[in-house]
Amino acid sequence: MKIKNEIDENDSAIENTIKHRNFPQVPKVIFGKGSFNQLDEILLPERKHIDAPFIFLVDDVFKNTMLAKNVPLRFNDELIFVSSAEEPKTKQVDELVGLIREKYESLPSGIVGIGGGTLLDLAKAVSLLLTNKGSAADYQGWDLIQKSSIYHVGVPTISGTGAEVSRTTVLLGPDKKLGINSDFTVFDQVILDPDLSIGVPKNQWFYTGMDCYIHCIESLNGTYLNAFSKSYGEMALELCKEVYLEDIDKQESREKLMMASWHGGMSIAYSQVGVAHAMSYGLSYLLGVKHGIGNCLVFQHLEEFYGDSVKLFNKMKEKHQIDLPSGICKELTEDDFNTLCNVALKMEPLWENALGKNWKERITREKLKSIYRKI
Ligand code: NAD
Ligand code: ZN
Repeated sequence: MKIKNEIDENDSAIENTIKHRNFPQVPKVIFGKGSFNQLDEILLPERKHIDAPFIFLVDDVFKNTMLAKNVPLRFNDELIFVSSAEEPKTKQVDELVGLIREKYESLPSGIVGIGGGTLLDLAKAVSLLLTNKGSAADYQGWDLIQKSSIYHVGVPTISGTGAEVSRTTVLLGPDKKLGINSDFTVFDQVILDPDLSIGVPKNQWFYTGMDCYIHCIESLNGTYLNAFSKSYGEMALELCKEVYLEDIDKQESREKLMMASWHGGMSIAYSQVGVAHAMSYGLSYLLGVKHGIGNCLVFQHLEEFYGDSVKLFNKMKEKHQIDLPSGICKELTEDDFNTLCNVALKMEPLWENALGKNWKERITREKLKSIYRKI
C-alpha cells in the first residue's frame, strides 16, 4: 500500500511540472433564429458616449439587402461595406484603422464584423490595432499584442471557419500569411443567427463547411489532442456528418452547421490543425486561393495521412455534386513550387500536431511537391 501511495505522489509531481495553457473564451453569445434583431439592445450599454460610434464592417454582398437595412445605426455610427473577394490583408487593416483614427477624435465604442471569416477577422484585427501602435504586420505571430482591444462583436453569416470563437485573426502580410494570435483577439460578443446564412451559394456553403470538417479531422487525428479538444471535435464532426450526409430540414441544417463551426473552432483552440491547412496556406499565399476551397483542394489528396476521412469527404462532395477546380498548379515553375513548400513548412506547430515531434523525418519537399502537382 505504501508503495502505491508513493507512486501516486510521484505521478502527480510529474503532472504538476506541465504548464497548461490558459485560454479565454467568448464571454457572451446569443444563439437563435432572429437573434440579430437584438443587436441594438446588446450594443446599447457598450456605447461610451455620443461621439464614440460603433463601426460596422459588413460584407458588401449585403449591399441593398434587409440585413444591411437592419444594422442598428445610432448617433454617428458608421457602416462600411468591405469586399471579401480576397482574404484580409495587414495593409487593409492598417488603412481601415487610419480611416477611423482620422475621422473620430476618440476611440469608437466598438467594432462589429458582419460576414464570413474574412469580415470576422477584419473586425478582430481593426479592434486590436486601434489600441496597439504600428502595423497589423508587426503582430502576426503568437502573443505579440500588448494592449487590450476595443469592444468587438462577431456576427457570422456563413458557417465553418470557427473564426467567431477563435483567438486568432488570419491575415496576409507582406511576407507571410499568419494570424494575430492573442487573448485580446477573442470577440467580446458573438451573435449566432442561423437565418443570416440563408442565401449562401451552394459551392461556398460546401467549401466553408468543409473547413470545419477538416478542422475536426486534423484535430482528432493530431498528436496534440486532449480530452478537451476531443469532446468538441467529436461533436463538430457528428454535426458535419448530419449536415452533409443526411437529408435534414434546411433550418435545422443551418443551425447544426453554425454549432459545428463553433465546436470545431473550440476543438482546435487546445490542439492544432494539420497537413491540409499547412499546405493550403501555401496556395493562399502564392495564388490567392481562398481558405475553404484551398483546404478542399489539398485534403482530397491526403488519403495517406487521413485515410477514411478523405473517403468520407469525397462522399460528401459527390452527394452535393461539387466539382473542385483542377489544374491550379499546372503552370507553376520550380521556384513557385519551392515557395509553396516554404510557406507550408514554416507552419511548424501544424506539422508537429499532424505527424509528431519527428515530423521533419516524415515529410520531404518532394512529397509536398508531388501533392501540389496533383492540384
Ligand atoms: P468569406 O468570409 O471569405 O466569404 C466567402 C463568400 O461567401 C464571400 O463571397 C461572401 O460574400 C459570401 N457570403 C458570406 N455570407 C453570405 C451570405 N449569408 N449570403 C451570401 N453570400 C455570403 O468565407 P469564409 O470561408 O467564412 O472565411 C474565409 C476566411 O476566414 C479566410 O480569410 C480565412 O483565413 C479565415 N479563417 C479564419 C479563421 C480564424 O480562426 N480566425 C479560421 C479559419 C479561416
Ligand atoms: Zn481552417
